[in-house]
Amino acid sequence: MSLSTHCPLCGADHPEAVYTLGDVPVICNQLWPDAGAARTAPSGNVELVVCPDCAFIWNRAFDPDCMEYAPGYENALHFSPHFQSFAEDLAAGLVERFDLAGKHVFEIGCGDGHMLDLMAANGVATATGFDPSMEGKDTPYTARDGVEIVPEYFRSDQLGRPFDAILCRHVLEHLDAPMSLLQDIRRAIGERDVPVYFEVPNAGWMLDAVSMWDVIYEHVGYWTAPAIIALFRRAGFAPTSVSVGYGGQFLMVEARPTDPEPGYLDPGAPEVLAAARAFGDAATGALASWREKLSGVHGRAVIWGAGSKGITFANALGAAGAPLAAMVDLNTRKHGLLAPGVALPVVAPGELAEIGPDLVLISNALYEAEITGQVRNMGLAPEFAVVTG
Ligand SMILES: [Zn+2]
Repeated sequence: MSLSTHCPLCGADHPEAVYTLGDVPVICNQLWPDAGAARTAPSGNVELVVCPDCAFIWNRAFDPDCMEYAPGYENALHFSPHFQSFAEDLAAGLVERFDLAGKHVFEIGCGDGHMLDLMAANGVATATGFDPSMEGKDTPYTARDGVEIVPEYFRSDQLGRPFDAILCRHVLEHLDAPMSLLQDIRRAIGERDVPVYFEVPNAGWMLDAVSMWDVIYEHVGYWTAPAIIALFRRAGFAPTSVSVGYGGQFLMVEARPTDPEPGYLDPGAPEVLAAARAFGDAATGALASWREKLSGVHGRAVIWGAGSKGITFANALGAAGAPLAAMVDLNTRKHGLLAPGVALPVVAPGELAEIGPDLVLISNALYEAEITGQVRNMGLAPEFAVVTG
């Protein structure tokens, strides 16, 4: 079955168009060492569609062959104190609720191992992560006893090692065949009662907030509660908790193995379908408004936050983004590099005084207070605007 014609969750063959964005960077979080390379970074199209049956939302123009999570992929959020406390609470809660002290935990798509380290700090015996983007990379998070990163794509045959829980955070939205991963894990668990924890960007929040900058090429799937519940039920997992966190932006599922329900459709699906249709109309209008606002800036503008949201926003502005001079980010690993497509340099906050921006665009509302305070402490008085939809 093809993504362009069939729903990757339920297999229905009548997707409905939602929203289109042309020529976006294929990998937002891949920064580049020079302007030429940044401008010619691979790009692709987004054609967001929704399945009227199960309410799964996906990019039908996604080409999995474009994606390769190689070294250079930079997706870590834990430089923010806000995210740090979210992750610490999550690790402590999972060890307690899943009774994992002295036991063995797997994480699929572990990144630099931040969560593995937190799990070990909370008493698990071993925490093993899988992530191909960690090949040849150093990380401070594997120093504790029992923490290991395997720099490879996860395969279910690796589940031959002992495991008492499986974590998978911010991976599902990258997969063009999400059901295969769930079914693989389910098979490997067999008759045992092994809990799983999955975390994804909350597309329900994205739809309601019209946060169209969360629509990026890297994400083939956009998960709402009804869709992810259908995925778990169909694959043979009973959700024990479905909740949102991190300001509503993350969707979190805790589940335990049970018998699969291959035809399961969630009763919440029609509401998501309506929200997806409204989102498409609103996003198109909001993009026009932002272009108009930037066209009215006569000095310089910067975007605070060189993550996927800020980079998508900068690229979507097109010619209207001319006043943009730089992107500001706390992550020192990004400094001196350039964003794909628009080729904006990523700088440290300390360089803002020299730039003297008239407008600071904040790419995540959660950090508005942190950022405005920091900028004013430098003696600057720009206009601030939060890049919502
Ligand atoms: Zn479907």
